[in-house]
Amino acid sequence: MKKIQSIRGMNDLLPGDSACWQYLESSIFKLLSQYGYREIRFPLLESTDLFKRTIGEVTDIVEKEMYSFDDRNGDSLSLRPEGTAGCVRACEEHGLIFNQVQRLWYQGPMFRHERPQKGRLRQFQQIGVEVFGLDGPDIDAELILMISQLWQILGLADSVTLQLNSLGTAQSRDAYREALVSYLEEKKDQLDEDSQRRLHTNPMRILDSKNPEIQLLLNKAPDLHDFLDDASLQHFEKLCLILDTLGVSYVINKRLVRGLDYYGKTVFEWVTSLLGSQGTICAGGRYDGLVEQLGGKSTPAIGLAMGVERLALLLDAAATLPDSIARQVDAYLIPVGDVGIKVLELGQMIRRSCPALRLQNHCGGGSLKNQMKKADKSGAIVALIVGEDEVAEGNLTVKFLREDRPQMSVSVDELIELLNIKIN
Ligand code: ATP
Ligand code: MG
Repeated sequence: MKKIQSIRGMNDLLPGDSACWQYLESSIFKLLSQYGYREIRFPLLESTDLFKRTIGEVTDIVEKEMYSFDDRNGDSLSLRPEGTAGCVRACEEHGLIFNQVQRLWYQGPMFRHERPQKGRLRQFQQIGVEVFGLDGPDIDAELILMISQLWQILGLADSVTLQLNSLGTAQSRDAYREALVSYLEEKKDQLDEDSQRRLHTNPMRILDSKNPEIQLLLNKAPDLHDFLDDASLQHFEKLCLILDTLGVSYVINKRLVRGLDYYGKTVFEWVTSLLGSQGTICAGGRYDGLVEQLGGKSTPAIGLAMGVERLALLLDAAATLPDSIARQVDAYLIPVGDVGIKVLELGQMIRRSCPALRLQNHCGGGSLKNQMKKADKSGAIVALIVGEDEVAEGNLTVKFLREDRPQMSVSVDELIELLNIKIN
């Protein structure tokens, strides 16, 4: 019988990779709570209209990437392609936005019908952050500073670059769009198919075309920043000044436009050169108009989202996953002879005294040689061997599996001291 396979672009997270994900998630959640962010959870399914109205009808996401279907009542629902829309919807619905400041985070799967490749999936995991009620630029800077700190914590500071831009207000974008379209109209025959299609639907997206010929063509195009309104320019200059003062490095990329319609003023992306064309690790920006667009009172807002799959790939490419996370367990406890029950008890005692220790009891018998092989395969840094002699003497034998060091015979107290030093 033909086996049923997973859906293309929807991966399983296997035990060999889950420790890396847990490490990423726990590092990020801890950092977020240090900055006063709180978690919000909202459904994976929302009404299709929510995404059409927020992300924009002529964006790639809404035009061709959403998983939409009619449910049994005939209502059009969509699996969420991103988190901001649902987050704003939930906060508005529960009165969390009006006259308040909120610093929130969420995590979970997002769904986009894209062409699956490394770092680009149809179900992927995002961790996102949204701030409501602050018009910046201090909060813009704080958000960027927080994520910069994350790269340091993860050992990725040298692997990522921050790109920064301002998109101004909707009015300044309209004026720029007109200028850009009339410039590109004259060069229409030099545009590729994608850009020709976008010329009248979403011309600003042409700015971040990956086609080098288009990029060349854009060198003489009107400059977005010449069209920015004063308030947006001042906001952007202030943000740059804060980042300069704090020593956060960035590159201004005037062609950074982002693929969702709701952004204005500050936008940013952290990119890496280590993951090919899936180089954007974390991206976001300001969306001051969105709350009002969804029927709320005009509220400044800024947010970002990072892709966990890409982060995991980057940790791998940069080889910065700590050894302690990569190994399955720290210690492997081996009973020799008729000491099984004693060893179970001993394992319990050690775990109580070393709460951070990951200790695996060998179960299922076998020769010492075989058990040592399993200990080695587990990634443990020490094997703890307990035989009848050891039980009688109240001690155990420690074999060091990852360092060139003679084995030791130690009491349980000495072992606990040793293990606490080894894993902390
Ligand atoms: P890209 O330009 O790579 O398509 P995007 O601009 O569409 O990214 P956003 O919508 O801003 O991405 O989502 C934020 C982050 O989520 C991205 O920076 C990326 O890390 C991750 N992400 C987006 N789409 C996917 C996907 N299909 N598979 C895996 N990760 C994704
Ligand atoms: Mg995309």
